[in-house]
Amino acid sequence: MNIIPMFINGKWITGEGEQLIDVYNPSTGEPMAQIINARDVHVEEAVHAARQAFESREWRNIKPYERGQLLTALAAYIREHAEELSLLECKDVGKPLAQAQADIEAAARYFEFYGGAADKVMGDTIPIEDGILNAVVLEPVGVTVHIVPWNYPIQITSRSVAAAIATGNVVIVKSAEDTPLTTHAITQWLADKLPPGVFQHVTGYGREVGALLTSHPHINHITFTGSVPTGIAVMKAAAENVVPVTLELGGKSPNIVFADAPFEQAVEGVVRAIIQNAGQTCSAGARLLVEASVKEAFLQQLVKCFEAIRIGPGEADVDMGPLLNENQYVKIATLLKEAQKDGYVITGGETLQIKGFEKGYYVQPTILDGLTHHHPFAQEEIFGPILTVFTFETVEEAIELANSTQYGLVAGVWSENVNTAHYVASRLQAGQVFINNYGAAGGIQMPFGGYKKSGIGREKGLVALRNYTQMKNIAIKYAGPT
Ligand code: NAD
Repeated sequence: MNIIPMFINGKWITGEGEQLIDVYNPSTGEPMAQIINARDVHVEEAVHAARQAFESREWRNIKPYERGQLLTALAAYIREHAEELSLLECKDVGKPLAQAQADIEAAARYFEFYGGAADKVMGDTIPIEDGILNAVVLEPVGVTVHIVPWNYPIQITSRSVAAAIATGNVVIVKSAEDTPLTTHAITQWLADKLPPGVFQHVTGYGREVGALLTSHPHINHITFTGSVPTGIAVMKAAAENVVPVTLELGGKSPNIVFADAPFEQAVEGVVRAIIQNAGQTCSAGARLLVEASVKEAFLQQLVKCFEAIRIGPGEADVDMGPLLNENQYVKIATLLKEAQKDGYVITGGETLQIKGFEKGYYVQPTILDGLTHHHPFAQEEIFGPILTVFTFETVEEAIELANSTQYGLVAGVWSENVNTAHYVASRLQAGQVFINNYGAAGGIQMPFGGYKKSGIGREKGLVALRNYTQMKNIAIKYAGPT
């Protein structure tokens, strides 16, 4: 089977004599590749090489605009190879081809966006007094570690790696156990274009390799995207060495539909928000809060759309692909059974066997109604295509319900009344609010991150460049003519 090598210190580490981990195709349920479970010696070498690279003249002599050119060249490469990269992502995550294609384009946009920004990251001057020039200089932080989850591998790798390289840092990426393929493809392109140690790709179990990397005393920043419990573990490890973290964690995001919502648009938005990537999206619209007077009419349309969703292997470019792996499948199947037993299912609720793909991890998109908002299904991130429904009578009730979980990643508000929509947006505890849309087509330029347990810091947009710079104040005293 195809072994995905790691890239450490400018060398490919192949799997000979190493512990290997199988990587499955979620659409077929069959193993298709293997990754190496990196050992402590690999992590030591990677961090040491990164530190040397960061301090080397070779890396420092590369001008900001040249780093930018490299990133934009990578964007061009990604676009030129969009077809094969989309197929790789589709095989790795199981997502429908059109969604994988959108992810590949988003990755290209990240490299393009931050490539363009590389020579525009500027400091400042502050007036102090005559005879002092006070400069505020932005410097790269150094060795940055990027821990990536499995649901949007190429997008999430690209968004933080591009910002870190643009600002002159060196990068160690640990891809998720299940989804190494597109990160490896980017690594192949970067391999001979950067000094050894500037970009490295390490693989293996998160609780082993991830923990070794994030607790290492010689790293300078961690960007972690993943679940809340792992985020807490990463933050604790970082605290031991006083290393800053950017945490992009989970969500339980609401879509709030008022009686005066643009109906068709809202139905389409609510469906897409939960079935994208089979609900395995941090910003999935997992809770529908609908004004009581239109609940019946809205649900009728919603159920129709859910029942029309085409499900199958990602490569067949259906509306919804399989879940990622057996763990996800067992978790969701158990939850569906419980919801069936308690009478909450109004559509869906079953696992599926797709002809020719019997070992794939397929489930029906499902709507649950009748839960109290304290129910764990309404509070916890399920990470599957399951929408929970609640009603409200007043604007204040809608806001209270929307804010009633530990998360605060994104929220959707659907209303034609500009006063209601803006008022609600101003009261929502969420890092991004969408009015009469959900997601704004990805929005590379928009700051993204969570309130409450959805995370710390922001990625995307120009603001993310600050994650990878540190500020130095230099005060220069000068004398004039005497
Ligand atoms: P996870 O937390 O299990 O794993 C994420 C990454 O952390 C993986 O690479 C894993 O190997 C690694 N890891 C695991 N244990 C570790 C440890 N002790 N130390 C260091 N690294 C460790 O998450 P997942 O199941 O891969 O992804 C799903 C989660 O990610 C969901 O909660 C989802 O909401 C979240 N997510 C958030 C965003 C965002 O931008 N906010 C985006 C995508 C996914």
